[in-house]
Amino acid sequence: MKKFVQICLICSCLIPGILVAQKVCKADKENRAFFKSHPHAHIEHQRINSKTPHFEEPPNGEYIIPVVFHVYGTYFNGKSVTLALLEETLAEATKDFQGLNDDYNSVDPAFQSLRGNFKISFKLAQLDPNGNPTNGMVTYAAKSGYGNSTGYDNQIKADAWDNSKYLNVYIQNDLYDDGTTNNSGIAWYPNTWMTNNNLARIVYNGAYLASNTNKEFASTFTHEIGHYLNLYHTFFDGCSGTDFVEDTPREDGAHSLNCNPGTNCGDSYVNIENYMGYNGARGCYKMFTQGQVTRMKAALDLPSRNSLWKETNLIATGIITHAIDPVAPTIEITNPNNNYTVEEGQSVELITVVSDQNGIDDIAKVAFFDNDQLQYTDTSTPYRYTYSQLEVGSHQLKAVATDNADLTATASIHVEVLAAIQFPSIHWIRTTQRYREDGSEFYNRELYRIEIEPQEKTYDIVIKGPNSYSRNLKTSSTQTIVLEDLKAGTYTIIIPSIEKKISKSF
Ligand SMILES: [Zn+2]
Repeated sequence: MKKFVQICLICSCLIPGILVAQKVCKADKENRAFFKSHPHAHIEHQRINSKTPHFEEPPNGEYIIPVVFHVYGTYFNGKSVTLALLEETLAEATKDFQGLNDDYNSVDPAFQSLRGNFKISFKLAQLDPNGNPTNGMVTYAAKSGYGNSTGYDNQIKADAWDNSKYLNVYIQNDLYDDGTTNNSGIAWYPNTWMTNNNLARIVYNGAYLASNTNKEFASTFTHEIGHYLNLYHTFFDGCSGTDFVEDTPREDGAHSLNCNPGTNCGDSYVNIENYMGYNGARGCYKMFTQGQVTRMKAALDLPSRNSLWKETNLIATGIITHAIDPVAPTIEITNPNNNYTVEEGQSVELITVVSDQNGIDDIAKVAFFDNDQLQYTDTSTPYRYTYSQLEVGSHQLKAVATDNADLTATASIHVEVLAAIQFPSIHWIRTTQRYREDGSEFYNRELYRIEIEPQEKTYDIVIKGPNSYSRNLKTSSTQTIVLEDLKAGTYTIIIPSIEKKISKSF
């Protein structure tokens, strides 16, 4: 642990190309002025630095921060600021924080085990404070000076979006309204007074956003977010100072190593690649330490920051459209026609009953499979599908419900499809015969007969008729079955194995 030093203030004033100490001091002056004029904020900040952090994290461990850019003017040292550039800025900063920057694996071996990955992403707001759609970029006429700690508060408040909901970034060219247009950025540590007064902010030079400058120097934006999340410079107060992070080596504050490995303050091997130093701005910004990530997480649980990443705020700012549901859905399948054994060509309709155990209706879709082959995806309730082309054989018909948190539930049924069945060909025969009953007189008599013709397959069949007539027979592939001497009435021929029957009345 580094030695505790009376904190002074923060600054984050980098000059591209050559880092000039005098400019750093100007930023210090502005920050010192803030604490001097707001002693309660200073006391709050000292208390934060002296306590062991215990903090609440998002349920899934991933923070998302809604961002609004207020852009003043059109040209920034000849560069313009577009929405695409702002998207690129946040995407690159997110990579830096998550250890996805392309030079992450080339970190000095002495510091590789100290690298800290922070699952945090920064996204442009999609809803403004009134709930109206936005792209997260608000444009204004050119203006300067929002890097000053005093003197511009009323203007800043007038333009600010609710600090408890948005990280407000002000893009200007002359940050201190002093005619200098090569200061890169500045941010203030978390404190409730600034947040409650809508003055919490990063102020940044549009000339040094993303591809408006070189890739390494663009990570100065990452550096400013570090300040916004309570990180000090790694060289704060030089060899006798501290940044309140245990695993960052001491630096003398001269930034003379640039990107050449070396020591400061005696034998302190400097983490020149750290985003919170100045050396890395020369082309080797690559990492935060684990201690810095812990300090930033603790900052995100402070009253001045802890509403930003909450789920309710992500919905309010349009970053997400549904509540993040930690509970998987449930699904049941109904087969309304009880078609579990069907004939080739016969369809099977499945209707699902999908619900969410915690009552949040955030089911995104239900996908229907036939033996693990996707057939159809239904995205609107009631989620259903009719299988109409099932081939002969065994089928597992499966439905998979997915909610907006990508949690799934699965249900399946088994269906057997039989080859097309020819119902036996049946002839119902009614004839009138004249015959002599006693050998002397002729009478007319009705005769009834059923002939069941040979079939390819043999079936057990049941024949029901009037007066409790009942016979069990087996069809034959070679022989016609003839039932004679039947009474008038209704006969039903049933093939139980395929649940088919046919009736006729004589
Ligand atoms: Zn800084």
